[in-house]
Amino acid sequence: MGRRKSEIDAFLATEERWRVVQDDRGGATRLEGPARLLGPTEKEYLFDLRMDVPAAFPARGADPEVVILKSPMPLAEDAHVGANVCVQMPPAHEIDYERVGLVGFLQQVLIHLRRSTIQALTGEYPGPAYAHGEAGKKEFREELVASFPVGLQRFVQPGLGMPPDNQWCPCGAERRFRDCHKPELKAARAAYIEAGGRVRAVNRERLKKKT
Ligand SMILES: [Zn+2]
Ligand SMILES: [Zn+2]
Repeated sequence: MGRRKSEIDAFLATEERWRVVQDDRGGATRLEGPARLLGPTEKEYLFDLRMDVPAAFPARGADPEVVILKSPMPLAEDAHVGANVCVQMPPAHEIDYERVGLVGFLQQVLIHLRRSTIQALTGEYPGPAYAHGEAGKKEFREELVASFPVGLQRFVQPGLGMPPDNQWCPCGAERRFRDCHKPELKAARAAYIEAGGRVRAVNRERLKKKT
């Protein structure tokens, strides 16, 4: 695909020590190269990385897969960076590759690597973190629900209908729902589903009883 090739060419022009090791590996182009970062005490840490860039890159969701080939220290498996770098975070943290390109992707990887290095040195992961994969998505959904006033929390999980437009908003403010939390709640429900949230039949039943 032309878009991916021009992204990779732009990347190689910036990152001179990176190279293509395999051009088409089940549709992905494999690159390898070093990543240098400064630790908490200005000491330099050097990693060797491998990156498989899928054919659909830079489409949304076409995440490159990153593997650490050489690390100056063992990194925690449950952080966002372990033996395999995972940048497939919940929607709020998705990377817009159309905008940032492969160069921007590597910067994100470096941010994770730096945080993981600090975690390995100090025992604490700095900055926002979600666990890997499904567990991380669950954490994200729980945070999303908790970010709403109590009266609205049960509506974040899609499966319950939205409150009626003209009813007072369940948040407790004396405003109609449509003039209060409606847009926010709509966006949250979409994010909830995108983060792997399921519409549960049990909620539909509960709704029927309530109405
Ligand atoms: Zn992860
Ligand atoms: Zn409200």
